[in-house]
Amino acid sequence: MTNSAISIVDLEKTYAGGKRALDKVSLEIPRGSIFGLLGPNGAGKSTMINILAGLVRKSGGSANIWGFDIDQHPRNAKASIGIVPQEILFDAFFTPFETLELQAGLYGVPKSKRRTMELLRAVRLDDKAHAYSRTLSGGMKRRLLVAKALVHTPPVLVLDEPTAGVDIELRAQLWEYVRELNAGGTTVVLTTHYLEEAEALCDRIAIVNGGQIVANDLTSTLLATAQDKILIVTTDADLGPLPAGLGERAVAKNARTLSITYDKREAQAGDILHKLTEAGIGIVDVSTREADLEDVFLKLTRQAA
Ligand code: ADP
Ligand code: MG
Repeated sequence: MTNSAISIVDLEKTYAGGKRALDKVSLEIPRGSIFGLLGPNGAGKSTMINILAGLVRKSGGSANIWGFDIDQHPRNAKASIGIVPQEILFDAFFTPFETLELQAGLYGVPKSKRRTMELLRAVRLDDKAHAYSRTLSGGMKRRLLVAKALVHTPPVLVLDEPTAGVDIELRAQLWEYVRELNAGGTTVVLTTHYLEEAEALCDRIAIVNGGQIVANDLTSTLLATAQDKILIVTTDADLGPLPAGLGERAVAKNARTLSITYDKREAQAGDILHKLTEAGIGIVDVSTREADLEDVFLKLTRQAA
């Protein structure tokens, strides 16, 4: 328990109106990790983050940040976490420098311990230190929010969908900075609905779906469950019975379209196509795709059922 950066037990949230966003979620986030909360829109990721941030009131369960229960020690819990919210909300009339100074004031960081310029340099906004925030681009605003979340030097940084709607270059910059912070000892939690992002950054991933954790494992372990590829074949004539040897995951999508899911470690598209031609099936078109998050979900929910 004390080795967790964040520990959540049976966390529940039902919004006014009856939407059950979190259904008894329990989760341990180890100190020192880059932890991904991965899930589709509406899964409950922001709800979880906002409860930790003190922005949403939980309906049940408990949460603990860096050893501090959010109910019993709210100030210590709050001091231990920095949160970059999903929505960019800004006071446009302050400069980045002022924004960080104000935030430091709110967190009671004494003047001598403030590192406003250092943080602005870290997020590459030092040349914008005294520009009005409203003149910053979307990417710059997001970087400023990262700096803002770090003014009190929290051991845990949480980024809620940090790269949603962010261009590729900035995404790469953010990833690099997240890795730097983590190398310096900060535990990083990020929510995302991009499998690719979680895969690139996170050493552990929990998959959230419908307010529940459906998987929680090392990224490498989780990815091993996503070794599927899907081969889509369009045929030149209506399909009869499928040839044997394609496996049970060959499914006729319609009269002339065949979808074959295979494990890329065990089979190759060429062999599968060969089996089809051998069986006298004429192939008009072929496409393949990697199993994506949705496929991983399907697989996991099938296993759970
Ligand atoms: P995610 O961040 O994973 O996309 P959210 O935590 O934002 O998911 O939302 C989880 C569910 O709770 C969704 O069905 C969403 O519509 C609902 N929800 C989120 N915020 C509110 C709110 N303030 N009032 C009512 N329902 C909400
Ligand atoms: Mg969200």
